[in-house]
Amino acid sequence: MTMQPHLGRLPKGEDLFHSLNAFCKQAGVNRGFVSVIGAVERAVLGYYHQDERQYESFEFDEHMEIVSCIGNVSIKDGEPFCHVHLTLSRKDCTVVAGHCMPGAVIFAAEAAVIPIPGPNLVRGFDEPTGLPLWT
Ligand code: ZN
Repeated sequence: MTMQPHLGRLPKGEDLFHSLNAFCKQAGVNRGFVSVIGAVERAVLGYYHQDERQYESFEFDEHMEIVSCIGNVSIKDGEPFCHVHLTLSRKDCTVVAGHCMPGAVIFAAEAAVIPIPGPNLVRGFDEPTGLPLWT
């Protein structure tokens, strides 16, 4: 794994979550920090209900700015996996935010992935939370 930061544009029309995972895989980054700015044509945000131990999805079928998309990359099911949270700005500049779910369609996206040296962090089921956390 190279330790240089990776900068790249994610393709218009692609799914933000899947495209970011593919970008990390292509760059050979298994462990690191990720950040994206740009815009989406639509988005799906998640909120994790801690008592019910499940995500609720919220769909936003509107054009929004990616104000912030930050997270990390680690290993899940043998592949680089990005856990990212999104803050999105509507046309009136109010924001919605949450866990980035599959379904956000890229209008434009500039990604920065910074590898962090060290052993791979691997996600596995965490009984106390019901989430796939680092084991
Ligand atoms: Zn999350």
